[in-house]
Amino acid sequence: MTAYDNDNIFAKILRGEFPCYKVFETDKTLSFLDIMPRAPGHTLVIPKAPARNILDIKPDDFAEVARVSHRIAAAAKKAFNADGVTLQQFSEPAAGQVVYHLHMHIVPRKVGVDMLPPASRKEDPKVLEDHATRLIAALKS
Ligand code: 5GP
Repeated sequence: MTAYDNDNIFAKILRGEFPCYKVFETDKTLSFLDIMPRAPGHTLVIPKAPARNILDIKPDDFAEVARVSHRIAAAAKKAFNADGVTLQQFSEPAAGQVVYHLHMHIVPRKVGVDMLPPASRKEDPKVLEDHATRLIAALKS
């Protein structure tokens, strides 16, 4: 498998070299909004440990991503008045992976509303700010 690339965009976000709309952080994970959301509230949970995807992440690091994803999913359902939540994780190009630092997608869903295709459009920064605020509030309640 290809080696982990320290210059991938999520590694830069973790190092603070690139901004993100942060919603939650633990000592082992960072959660932030996807800037091209497939539905309002689309959030990414990543491990702080370098891992390309599910094929090289340490089980304990993945367990922490899963634990935080569980929490974000509940908050996202509440914050966006969703009917359900889709979780996705893509590993390697064959599976649709585009950014090579492991991430879990958490997408709030409404009945009858399809997810947008990946990378359809960049969301307005004001909308992302509002969505981050809503998620942070839901995580605290
Ligand atoms: P993948 O197909 O690798 O599972 O998904 C990568 C995701 O990262 C996509 O949903 C895409 O919209 C998102 N993404 C790409 N570049 C950036 C970025 O610079 N910031 C954020 N927050 N998300 C990004």
